[in-house]
Amino acid sequence: CGIFGAIGVSDASNFVALGLHALQHRGQEAGGIVAHDPESGFNSAHRFGYVRDNFTKADVMSTLPGPLAIGHVRYSTAGTKAATAIRDVQPFFGEFHMGGCAIAHNGNITNAAALRRELIERGSIFQSSSDSECIIHLMARSIQRNIPERMKDALRRVEGAFSVIAMTRTKLIGVRDPLGVRPLVLGKVGEDGFVLASETCALDIIGADFIREIEPGEMVVITKGEVESSRPFGPSKGRFCIFEHVYFSRPDSIIGGRSVYETRRQIGVELAREAPIEADLVCPVPDSGTPAAIGFAQESGIPYGMGIIRNQYMGRTFIEPTEQIRNMGVRLKLNVNRSLIAGKRVVLVDDSVVRGTTSRKIKDMILDAGAAEVHFRIASPPTAWPCFYGVDTPDRDKLLAANMTPEEMRDWIGVDSLAFVSLDGLYRAVGEAEGRNKACPQYCDACFSGDYPVAPFDQLERGFRM
Ligand code: 5GP
Ligand code: SF4
Ligand code: MG
Repeated sequence: CGIFGAIGVSDASNFVALGLHALQHRGQEAGGIVAHDPESGFNSAHRFGYVRDNFTKADVMSTLPGPLAIGHVRYSTAGTKAATAIRDVQPFFGEFHMGGCAIAHNGNITNAAALRRELIERGSIFQSSSDSECIIHLMARSIQRNIPERMKDALRRVEGAFSVIAMTRTKLIGVRDPLGVRPLVLGKVGEDGFVLASETCALDIIGADFIREIEPGEMVVITKGEVESSRPFGPSKGRFCIFEHVYFSRPDSIIGGRSVYETRRQIGVELAREAPIEADLVCPVPDSGTPAAIGFAQESGIPYGMGIIRNQYMGRTFIEPTEQIRNMGVRLKLNVNRSLIAGKRVVLVDDSVVRGTTSRKIKDMILDAGAAEVHFRIASPPTAWPCFYGVDTPDRDKLLAANMTPEEMRDWIGVDSLAFVSLDGLYRAVGEAEGRNKACPQYCDACFSGDYPVAPFDQLERGFRM
């Protein structure tokens, strides 16, 4: 998901709408905005579909006045697989005796089912099927006298990945879980306006200046032009999601001081060194494979070309929640550039192989177009484990790499060669010259390594075995 908040600007909801539009790649199912205005109080709008189709029109935006607003774009992850209901669309809102509070959450709470059971037993009435709603109910049960303190109480009971943006009548609040699995950045806009956003690309769109990242385990409370920082969870070392660098974030965002584009290009360089091949053409599987393909071509000296053309009016395939739509998605989205491919030995570079169905279909299209050979190069290690921290991966039995050796995968996809970047190669590409620190890994890489930095409580209860 993508989250954005703004305070201290006139018509904050317009900033939020623009910020969410820049974060649309993080969630395309639905979006919501809550705004507060001293005269009319809290107002909200929750809609299915793209930001640009819902939050640009005056009839909606005029209902969201005021200098303070937050918003969310949704992408449903494991657990909440049923078709999204409008009541699952964030931000969520809670009314406490000290006032209202709206929250927007990116990530996935790994003990949400257990918390929900406990809260329902104690009388909470849940409105949605979302894991994020627990936070509001936990806050309602806190005995603290102000909302930021209640939020700390609530979040200390929550496990897993959470970047949260919240607002009261007067405050904008941002928090990251102790491992800082999901991103969150702070920016400044106008005279004394502040914004919080999932990624820096959402600051650029409104002309905000990047100040800094919210740190893992940090809470910031912003009021009247002041940013107050605290550490509700005690000391911890971050383990940011390495897959944000590979795929999830936008290439024009800066994470941990590094350009996501540059990291992806560097993964392609690593791939060309680790798994060189004689070929005539390097093609990206657009758009997610493009920077790595550029790096592969530069390092190998093989010409780069657009052998696959993407229809820009389709969204990210994998974000469509059902298997059937996903299966059709490949052809709706990608087509082969025949005249470029015919007769050539082609290296195809993609970001990841999950179920393998995309790779298989792309191989068919490339061979149909008359390619002499097809070589797949993948800009991440084999995805052998599901993510429980906010990226939608299927169960282990559907993950190609969980069930096959690399050679079996090559055979199943039907290509002349298949190679994945190594975990160390990926770490080098994100700037860790020594590779992955086995004793104390610098990132979360559980979907590749099976090393889960937070035990996925609900999943373990359901019989998942690490
Ligand atoms: P698959 O191998 O399941 O057919 O799809 C892989 C493609 O889905 C990749 O090209 C990639 O762009 C996209 N994708 C990236 N990340 C994920 C993810 O976390 N889950 C899923 N299901 N697909 C992803
Ligand atoms: Fe990111 Fe993978 Fe960790 Fe999930 S399991 S948070 S996708 S690195
Ligand atoms: Mg892709």
